[in-house]
Amino acid sequence: MAEFNNAMEIFRFLPKTNCKECGETTCLAFAGAVFTGKTDLSCCPHVPDDKLQQYGTTKRVTNPIEEEFQAVMEKQQTRLLTLDFEERARIIKAEYNEGKITLPILGKLFSIDRYCNVTTDIHVNSWVLGTVLHYLNYSQGVPLSLNWVPLRELPSGKDWYRLFGQQCENVLKTTADTYPGLFSDLVEAFRGKMIDERFQSDVAVILAPLPLVPMLICYWYPEEGMESSLKLFFDATAEANLGIEGLYTLGVGIAQMLQRLTKVHGHGQ
Ligand code: SF4
Repeated sequence: MAEFNNAMEIFRFLPKTNCKECGETTCLAFAGAVFTGKTDLSCCPHVPDDKLQQYGTTKRVTNPIEEEFQAVMEKQQTRLLTLDFEERARIIKAEYNEGKITLPILGKLFSIDRYCNVTTDIHVNSWVLGTVLHYLNYSQGVPLSLNWVPLRELPSGKDWYRLFGQQCENVLKTTADTYPGLFSDLVEAFRGKMIDERFQSDVAVILAPLPLVPMLICYWYPEEGMESSLKLFFDATAEANLGIEGLYTLGVGIAQMLQRLTKVHGHGQ
């Protein structure tokens, strides 16, 4: 039976009417809930029969994050075996030494050989690890433009930005709302760089999850009955250097990692 690689695969074949018959408020929320195993694909009466047959009707019982990692790893590992490591390291702004590529991820070193042996002391979840492999294999090495844009303004961003908002920006916003120390932690623990306001935000932090894929997190405090807001921006070259699916996965991976870390330290909900 086929398995989903991400929530967008599910969202694509839903009717997008937001009729709520599945118990979720939107088709987008339903796609996320199916992917994370919280509900069953068959709970939407409008899923085409061929999709139900293709993907089955039972809830996922294993950890979807681990499943995603395994799927990504298998695909990427095969490609890694045939990669010219020295050449790739030059293109993606990494170091090459004795069969290993080493690059900084969120301020810490990450080394990998062609057999996928990884050395790093950074706490990255499997989504982030899968994204790194994608970067090694496919980044075009385009120099940064220094022009920050939201995901929806990237060439393929229109299909992804709503799901990205739900699973990355909203998760980060909730984490920031419940743990005000989040941004100083990003600076100290992940070598983030606090900059002067951007887009009239109250807080602006640049993270460097990959050498050619920086991200800018902007946060606006709540005021006068208005909720807080959080938006994420990428360099305009980001899709060439990671692909839209890679950017989505990276954003969700970082949001989940920070949410988990703040919960472990007793700050989350
Ligand atoms: S029942 Fe199906 S069509 Fe209706 S909101 Fe849920 S997912 Fe969308």
